[in-house]
Amino acid sequence: MAVTDHVDLNGFMEGVKKRNPHQPEFVQAVQEVAEDIFDFIQDKEEYHAQQILRRIAEPDRVVSFRVCWEDDNGNIRVQRGWRVQNNNAIGPYKGGIRFHPSVNESVLKFLAFEQTFKNALTGLPMGGGKGGANFNPKGKSVREIMRFCQSFMTELYRHIGPDVDVPAGDIGVGGREIGFMFGQYKRITNHWNGVLTGKGLEWGGSLIRTEATGYGAVYFLENMLATKGESVAGKTAVISGSGNVATHAAEKIVQLGGKVLTLSDSGGFIHDPDGITQEKIDWVKAHKTHRRGRIEEYVEAFPGATFHPGKTPWGVPCDVALPCATQNELLGEDAKTLIANGCKAVSEGANMPTDLDGVHAFKAAKILYAPGKASNAGGVAVSGLEMSQNSERRSWKEEELQQMLKDIMKGIHDACIRYGDQGGGYIDYVKGANIAGFKKVADAMLAFGVV
Ligand code: GLU
Repeated sequence: MAVTDHVDLNGFMEGVKKRNPHQPEFVQAVQEVAEDIFDFIQDKEEYHAQQILRRIAEPDRVVSFRVCWEDDNGNIRVQRGWRVQNNNAIGPYKGGIRFHPSVNESVLKFLAFEQTFKNALTGLPMGGGKGGANFNPKGKSVREIMRFCQSFMTELYRHIGPDVDVPAGDIGVGGREIGFMFGQYKRITNHWNGVLTGKGLEWGGSLIRTEATGYGAVYFLENMLATKGESVAGKTAVISGSGNVATHAAEKIVQLGGKVLTLSDSGGFIHDPDGITQEKIDWVKAHKTHRRGRIEEYVEAFPGATFHPGKTPWGVPCDVALPCATQNELLGEDAKTLIANGCKAVSEGANMPTDLDGVHAFKAAKILYAPGKASNAGGVAVSGLEMSQNSERRSWKEEELQQMLKDIMKGIHDACIRYGDQGGGYIDYVKGANIAGFKKVADAMLAFGVV
């Protein structure tokens, strides 16, 4: 037995907690993975001896920097920016940039850690990273957002590159922000290359990148339901969030014949018992994305609906649920309510939306439950395809990309079954995703020796 081999799960987690004080989201993400990995590596001496999990749970580097910008009133503002480069064993670091007041090192470390497993699951050569700033885009003018993005990139550019680290969007960062950042990168470096994904179609972006995360989460759901001989058609769906992921998940549910009952934002949720149709989804997209409105205004446009301030939608009875807002938005009690109301399947569009109690409740009830690292991987998968198109200097057709996205989501589903099949018709998708993602990264790390 190796000297390093006598640490059990609890001992390992004690170390993680000690080394990462005041970082609860990061500790939570590591714990959720470690619970499955300790089981898997129990009889695999080499992973223990080489301290593989310990190394994946220690980012390669965390870059933290000051971002100064001037607001429209001439005030100097100071924000903190980060890029967490977690692991590049299987490809360049890859992962989004988040602008939100809740962003801190713990949140970005958890996201970069999760991204490492998610990206491995896509089967594409991408390592894991994440970045962002504690900047609140809400209420800012377009010029202010532009100046912030430029200032952010003025530091970030030296840490990234098409073969080094390829950021993209996340909460608070969409096509417009990617445009401002790409413009500044190009201006500083004089390089036009695939350093960012989620670009506009006129300047190197990929078709279906915008839709990919939400659509992918529904494709994953469809794959899960198929194992029970069921499909999305005719099912009622409760969705949280009203941004890019939530609206495209809703769109795909509607296209496949399901009925969407809810959407939400930080102010509360709307419940539309008549169903949120494509026309209503288009209204939400225009209202939230282009006019930066609040979801509560939905009930004025569509009076059949009700608004529930300060609440999440998990109490509305449904067949399937898609948490598509943010981390820890679905707690243990919510999971129990969903189960009690007969919810059959949960497919996460957000990253770690369910807390550990919720995860344990879903596992205990043995319902179809897909963690974000498996079910929301469609977005980063199409980002990977955008990188390939940029390297080839050509753009693929929409049909080709649609098919590739479906195939990748099916591939992730198959990988989850391979490592998560518990017998008796129950598939533990959390376990399957954790082990399949871990194994790919771990085996690459073994090949590299101690680096
Ligand atoms: N932010 C997305 C995610 O959580 C996409 C990242 C990317 O496209 O690089 O996976």
